Amino acid sequence: MATSTPCAGWSAFCGRVAELDAGAQPAGVPVDARPGRLAAIRDDLARHDLDALLVTALPNIRYLTGFSGTSALLVVTAKECVLLTDFRYATQVDEEVGSAASVRIEATSLWGGLWPALGAMAGVERIGFESAHVVHRDFARLLEQGSRWHWRPIVDLVERRREVKDAGEITCIERAVAMAETALASALAQFRPGLTETAAAGVLERALRDAGSEAFPFPTIVASGPRSALPHARAAGRGLERGDFVLVDFGAVSDGYCSDITRTVVLGRASAEQRDVYDIVREANARASGAVRVGMQGMAADAVAREYIAARGFGEAFGHSLGHGIGLEVHEGPRLARTIETPLAAGMVVTIEPGIYRPGWGGVRIEDDVLITESGRRVLTRFSRDLLELA
Ligand code: ZN
Ligand code: ZN
Repeated sequence: MATSTPCAGWSAFCGRVAELDAGAQPAGVPVDARPGRLAAIRDDLARHDLDALLVTALPNIRYLTGFSGTSALLVVTAKECVLLTDFRYATQVDEEVGSAASVRIEATSLWGGLWPALGAMAGVERIGFESAHVVHRDFARLLEQGSRWHWRPIVDLVERRREVKDAGEITCIERAVAMAETALASALAQFRPGLTETAAAGVLERALRDAGSEAFPFPTIVASGPRSALPHARAAGRGLERGDFVLVDFGAVSDGYCSDITRTVVLGRASAEQRDVYDIVREANARASGAVRVGMQGMAADAVAREYIAARGFGEAFGHSLGHGIGLEVHEGPRLARTIETPLAAGMVVTIEPGIYRPGWGGVRIEDDVLITESGRRVLTRFSRDLLELA
């Protein structure tokens, strides 16, 4: 689980932040990003004419309080921030949250503890709830036991705030990228004909752990030969064969923050046709990575890669969107897709992942993680984009 960081708990928000913000903070003292995040959410509450927000999505709770457990409810009002969790996390919540929230350890049920917690908050009537994260059973609780309050569905309030990363978050993502790249180099050296995709994924996941990754953002994809044409393939029992495209899509996690990388290699010598298709995807990736900038709409970024691939005759073979934000979740805002008008902002970290998939033949995807900066962008992924032919 451990990474090389000396920080614990809400450490996602410390580390190099202190160096980057040395003027405001004595060197070596981590900057706590949570008060600023809570203040932003309180601004949102005022704009939505709400007295409180009930936060149920765990990544949002982690973002606001630092708590990384798997059982929690959070209530944010103009003055209070109350976190409910259970006995299993009593020690952890103390270490991670500290004074960022008032903590209530509930003996039986979090929802059962919510009503008295809300009842103790003066002046709270209109409460927003995260409609994308409340299942119907819990919505029924709001209507029944919580009937003395007015509940309003809210979408993506905290998620919008999470789209722009601060320096501490970017450091975590950079670490996750570095771990993934170290692991990939080690794993590719072990890919051989006959190794099954699941075994190859295992080799890569072992290397990710060795590199310090605390988890896997999603099950590692290794798709070979014709199976590389499945954009979201599951590693299966197929043995790697000479001449295969081998598509590897995976990531690492550092202090809760994800990387998400794809490389496609050939086992043995690439054919001319493989090289042609690969070069088109690589050029589409390079064009989009070189184009993204502050103010560019998601749809415009998507179009850069899509129009190039279409002009080369493979428009029908690129059926998914260009990319997505990464952070505490491997898929988060902003999206880079055909219908997305949201403009990019400095501090966003997005994937650029064009692909070409030809059923029965194979596919290529090249995915990089890119930070949008005030002056342009910084491609965080450094792993070679040349077509690697594994011996
Ligand atoms: Zn990916
Ligand atoms: Zn991705």
